[in-house]
Amino acid sequence: MLISMLLNPKMKEYPTVRSVALQEKLAATGGVDDRYTSLSELKRKEDEFLKLKLESEESLRKETINKLADANFRKGNKLFYYPELVKPDQHIDIFFNRSFSTLKNEPDVMIMGAFNDWKWKSFGMNLSKSHLKGDWWSCQLYVPKEAYKIDFVFYNGQDVYENNDEQDFCIAVEGGMDVFDFENFLLEEKMHEQEDLLRQKAERERQEEEQRYIEAEKAAIEADRAQAKEEVAKTRGMMQVVMKKALISVDDVWYIEPKPWDVEGSGMVRLYYNRSSGPLSHGKDLWIHGGYNNWKDGLSIVSKLIKSGKDGDWWFADVVVPDRALVLDWVLADGPPQQAVIYDNNNMQDFHAIVPKSIAEELYWAEEEQILFRRLQTERQSREKAIRAKAEKTARLKAETKEKTLRTYLLSQKHIVYTDPLDVRAGSTVNLFYNPANTVLNGKSEVWLRCSFNRWTHRMGPLPPQKIIPAENSSHLKSSVKVPLDAYMIDFVFSEREDGGIFDNKNGMDYHIPVLGGVVKEPPMHIVHISVEMAPIAKVGGLGDVVTSLSRAVQDMNHNVEIILPKYDCLNLSHVKDLQFHKSYSWGGTEIKVWFGKVEGISVIFLEPQNGLFWVGCIYGRGNDGDRFGFFCNAALEFLLQSGSHPDIIHCHDWSSAPVAWLFKEQYMHYGLSKARIVFTIHNLEFGAELIGKAMAFADKATTVSPTYSREVSGNPVIAPYLYKFHGILNGIDPDIWDPYNDKFLPVSYTSENVVEGKQAAKEALQERLGLKKADLPMVGIITRLTHQKGIHLIKHAIWRTLERNGQVVLLGSAPDPRIQNDFVNLASQLHSSHTDRARLCLTYDEPLSHLIYAGADFILVPSIFEPCGLTQLTAMRYGSVPVVRKTGGLYDTVYDVDHDVDRAQEQGLQPNGFNFDGADAGGVDYALNRAISAWYDKREWFYALCKCVMEQDWSWNRPALDYLELYNAARK
Ligand code: ADP
Repeated sequence: MLISMLLNPKMKEYPTVRSVALQEKLAATGGVDDRYTSLSELKRKEDEFLKLKLESEESLRKETINKLADANFRKGNKLFYYPELVKPDQHIDIFFNRSFSTLKNEPDVMIMGAFNDWKWKSFGMNLSKSHLKGDWWSCQLYVPKEAYKIDFVFYNGQDVYENNDEQDFCIAVEGGMDVFDFENFLLEEKMHEQEDLLRQKAERERQEEEQRYIEAEKAAIEADRAQAKEEVAKTRGMMQVVMKKALISVDDVWYIEPKPWDVEGSGMVRLYYNRSSGPLSHGKDLWIHGGYNNWKDGLSIVSKLIKSGKDGDWWFADVVVPDRALVLDWVLADGPPQQAVIYDNNNMQDFHAIVPKSIAEELYWAEEEQILFRRLQTERQSREKAIRAKAEKTARLKAETKEKTLRTYLLSQKHIVYTDPLDVRAGSTVNLFYNPANTVLNGKSEVWLRCSFNRWTHRMGPLPPQKIIPAENSSHLKSSVKVPLDAYMIDFVFSEREDGGIFDNKNGMDYHIPVLGGVVKEPPMHIVHISVEMAPIAKVGGLGDVVTSLSRAVQDMNHNVEIILPKYDCLNLSHVKDLQFHKSYSWGGTEIKVWFGKVEGISVIFLEPQNGLFWVGCIYGRGNDGDRFGFFCNAALEFLLQSGSHPDIIHCHDWSSAPVAWLFKEQYMHYGLSKARIVFTIHNLEFGAELIGKAMAFADKATTVSPTYSREVSGNPVIAPYLYKFHGILNGIDPDIWDPYNDKFLPVSYTSENVVEGKQAAKEALQERLGLKKADLPMVGIITRLTHQKGIHLIKHAIWRTLERNGQVVLLGSAPDPRIQNDFVNLASQLHSSHTDRARLCLTYDEPLSHLIYAGADFILVPSIFEPCGLTQLTAMRYGSVPVVRKTGGLYDTVYDVDHDVDRAQEQGLQPNGFNFDGADAGGVDYALNRAISAWYDKREWFYALCKCVMEQDWSWNRPALDYLELYNAARK
């Protein structure tokens, strides 16, 4: 041990004081003398020197330990150690006085300990009795370089402990890490561990994938082989019929020379035909149309016959017999293919000649099977390769879009707050910039930053308030923040004074910036939607779409989401996976059956009251909808209570699940569902305002589906009192359902890279399908419910205006009101006769057709009178169609006019993306539509660039889901 200490360069300087006796002894050896010149002498000298040094140190050690033992014995101490100053990365001796301790009567003494407040590397070993005076027992311990403290107790190996009067023993380690560094070290270790685990997992998955691939390939090869066998057996069966009919020659009709003919060599034979033998007896020209092996490769022999010099009406053609021919097939005609009129096809049997000396039949069929098998394999592999490449590209585009959106989201706050770098990584130090000019702290002489991590839950607690100082050349104030390795989020608010005063806390939401690459991930939240609609199994309108796609997006961010839905008898069960009965419970005087299933990857809980409330063949439309849904809301909360579920958030929607808000607050919160917070979303304020108002009062947070709509309805008496908790969050579209790169209803799949080509093909397919002129004209598409909300008079006007401008127009829409439907049926028949090649009105609901219109149209018109959010314009953009919209609600928040909204778009980190108009009259629509159509005619390249640009904007749930999560978190505070 000591040798190794000596060889350790750090230890060589030690000890610094030498005992006098030993110094003299060293001097007597004479040091290194000139007389010893040989290397071995030098080495010997050096060894001797080292040995003495060692002895000197050892004796010093002993000396010091003896002194320490005496001193500590006199003081009655139970413990001392050597060296007295303990440093990291070193061995120390620990001495324990048994007779002063609770172990005085014990034969064995053991130590049990760990480092750094018992947090790390526990150890245990026996102590041995030392030769020191006074019952000192000792052991040696290595102090790792990361240690700042050694903690330990002694015991007898069983149940008698000496723990320093319950204080435990500890030794401080000097000059190494401090507590903070050590925490970081632990986190780094954990991070490496996690990285290792991830690497191992990735490797395991790769191997599993490879294994799956090998097995799938094996199965596919088997299937290809079986298919080849089956197809060849079928062909062989048919060939046998033909072979039976095949002959060497037929007297007076045909024969082949040489006789017997032999196809080896050139493979050329001369086929004679007696023109008078059949229907071609008066034909001027004679042609053979032939093939082989029951027309295996179709028409492969075509040749004109020549009159022979032989007696009779004999004609001939020289025919090359294909290599693998068993039989020749032909008919005769009076001209070449496509020009012949009269045929001799041997009474519909065709002519067939046996090919002598050809390949052996068995061998031929075995080879045929092999050839087919190889072809099937190649075709399948290239098909699979294309599918894989497409899936990879889809995933890559999706990930890129998501990342870009997160950056846009962070940049969109830049006028108030941002970090440099924008991507914050755990363990790094970032600069934080804040511009009070755009907040409540505008004009304050000082601004203080209060900051923490992990939504204010980080182990270090909030950092002390920090005064932030003006940044150079900028209107922002600046501060720097060290982000710990176990952070997943930075949280901050700003105040005017160190001790508070006015706060900018982003209207109660606080500022949060996600941290990447941390050891700790955000703990998942549990969110339960209580809804009466869910796409695609129970969808009437946008509510159903939103519930499903919002849930999916939030679930994709690693949270737990469930939906509680009535089990209607009219559910579209084909989209429900693993539907199974779970249990029954009693409530409201009836038994309620609970079913579990998965829809679009989301867990759905179906409630089926046995009183038949939801066995009425429809979702809405019964006189007692309010009662039915009221019952459902109550039953849903009862289910959560009885099943012991404790969601963080209960999210209810529109008037139909509004009762959840007050039933929860008045009853279930007190029964035990105390943890949950209620979030309520208004999808359309047109219906059930009274119930919506009541839910507004009780909800912890309320939202509607766009910021502008939230402002538009803010004066409504059911909303106005609750503006402090009311937020507008845009809806998104599901990028998997609406994806022109993977859309089975389109002729050519496209991304923004080939948008022009893809849309051109879709336009042609649409023109073809609807019987419109196939011409390069601007096409306006309208896809809508035909109700007054959607601006019916503006739609009609836009149709005429488009036709005037020589454009094409396609409307897909249906009207719930028969009078409106009738009106449009009349308009359709008028237009279909006056502009049959340029206008088509499809007055039905047809989702597949809607896909083709989104892709084929140049413009999608949405002139709604009011529009809470609107999905049509978002879908249009996903398909590279330019939206033309009225400036209202969500249309205003998502469509930025190319001529007027450059700045407004920039604030959102966007490029302008369409045309919009004010007012609700013809002039307004004309203003937008004329500019749009003119751009199409006059600036085509610019217009194509616009299509590409709108397609690259992200109107999926990526961004809204972040906003909902902020809201959910704010509700939990
Ligand atoms: P709302 O929910 O008010 O009808 P949105 O714009 O929010 O309006 O949603 C309308 C959705 O319904 C869009 O996805 C649109 O494509 C679709 N849609 C509307 N009418 C039809 C139709 N006749 N055929 C097919 N899809 C339609």
